[in-house]
Amino acid sequence: MRLMQYKIKHQRICNIYISHMHGDHYFGLAGLLSTMHLQGRNAPLYLFGPPGLSDILSLQFKYSGTNLCFPLIFQELDTSSHQKIFEDKQLTVHTIPMEHRVPCCGFLFREKPKPRPLIKENLPDFLTPPQLVRLKWGEDIKDEQGNLLVRSHEVTLEPKHSRSYAYCSDSRYKPALLPYLRGTDLLYHEATFLDDLRERANYTFHSTALQAAELAAAAQVRRLILGHFSVRYKDLTPLLQEATAIFPNTDLATEGSVFSIKD
Ligand SMILES: [Zn+2]
Ligand SMILES: [Zn+2]
Repeated sequence: MRLMQYKIKHQRICNIYISHMHGDHYFGLAGLLSTMHLQGRNAPLYLFGPPGLSDILSLQFKYSGTNLCFPLIFQELDTSSHQKIFEDKQLTVHTIPMEHRVPCCGFLFREKPKPRPLIKENLPDFLTPPQLVRLKWGEDIKDEQGNLLVRSHEVTLEPKHSRSYAYCSDSRYKPALLPYLRGTDLLYHEATFLDDLRERANYTFHSTALQAAELAAAAQVRRLILGHFSVRYKDLTPLLQEATAIFPNTDLATEGSVFSIKD
């Protein structure tokens, strides 16, 4: 329903990543898959999630007599380790182990290095198309005797920035995440509580806004988005204030907000 409300087309979704088996993170999935089915999807859908997710969906489809009209390909995740779970031409996806009451992992989406744009006026005209491709990927061109003909860095510009996004929810404050998050462009981190409920956050395996900001600052990310707020907070401003005191470039993940990552 939210996807429809915000005019995001189902067909554009080819992978779905589920962090853990608490209902607030996947109860809508059977409905979404059914809608895709009713709309006649035929492209395969890749679903990444913890053990048990596939069984639950199979039962739901079995007892509703649903035979999905598209291939649903499930990849079971080992939530306790940092692993590459997906790769295509443009990006990689890795799991990030979280610390929660049930097995849970976050996800790190990273664009691969991009080609170096050619400076046309600096290019000698004897170059072949395969040589141009090699120059774009930073490789120098040599003749058969190994003598340098064209140096990549002299005929190309710096490549565009490869963007990254880390999704971290749900988790207790976990400084061990730092190496995974260092330099990330955009970090979504749960901030269920304000820091006066730090104890409660700890024993319910959640984080506070202050802790999320501390992690963002230590990891030197470019921007932080807070989400997963306790329903006790009717006004979310204090959560934002608590985080911005430590990490100014912070926003709230309110419904319908769009965050783009600049090149
Ligand atoms: Zn949870
Ligand atoms: Zn949750």
